[in-house]
Amino acid sequence: MGMLSSRNVQISGPRPHKNGRDVLVLPVLLLNRFFAPVSVTTARRAMVLLFGGAALAVDEDGSTYDFGRWRELPMRSRDDGISTITGSLRVPRVLHLQRYDRAPHVVVRLTRRNLMLRDEHQCQYCAKKPSLRDLNIDHVVPRSRGGLDSWDNLVISCRTCNLKKGRRTPDEAGMRLLRMPQKPRWTTPAQILMAEREPFSEWQPYLKAG
Ligand SMILES: [Zn+2]
Repeated sequence: MGMLSSRNVQISGPRPHKNGRDVLVLPVLLLNRFFAPVSVTTARRAMVLLFGGAALAVDEDGSTYDFGRWRELPMRSRDDGISTITGSLRVPRVLHLQRYDRAPHVVVRLTRRNLMLRDEHQCQYCAKKPSLRDLNIDHVVPRSRGGLDSWDNLVISCRTCNLKKGRRTPDEAGMRLLRMPQKPRWTTPAQILMAEREPFSEWQPYLKAG
C-alpha cells in the first residue's frame, strides 16, 4: 500500500471485506474528462488516483469531490468503507479523470465468461447452443501440441464436438471453425458493463450511451 500510506489514508487493522470480497478490489468506473467511461479499475487504484489529485470522486447525483471533501462524507449503509486513522472512507463507485481525454479503452480479460460472450454461447464447430454446462472451452491447437491459452487458440465448443475432436487440430479432425477466434474488440460502454460481473447502479448514467 505504499502510495496510500500517508498520514491521512493509512489502511488500519485487518482488511475490510464485504461478502467475502476484499473491499480494495471492488470495481470502480473511470470516466474521462468528457464523462465517457474509460475502464474499470480497483478501489485500491481509485483511492490512489483520488488521493493524488488525478481524479475526483463522483457520487450518485453526479457531484464531484476531491479527496479532502470526499473523506468528509459520512458512511451510509449502502457504502463500502475503508478504515483510516480518521475514520471510515467511502469507496467511490465512479471517478472522474479531469485531465484524461482519450477515448475509452477496454482491457478484456481472457476468462471463461468473456470467451462465452465472444462466442455467444455457441459451439464454434457445430453452431449449436446447448445449455451452459454442455459447453466447454476447446484449444484449437491442443495443449499437448503446443497450443496456447490465448484468444486466438480458445473457442467455445459443445461436449460432443470436444470429444469428437480429441487431441487433434480441426483440420485433422475434419472439423471447421465457424469463425477465426480473436481477441474481442469491445470498446463501448455497454461492453464494459457486460464484462463486469457486478456493475453498480451508480454506473448506469454513464453506460447508457453507446
Ligand atoms: Zn458442437
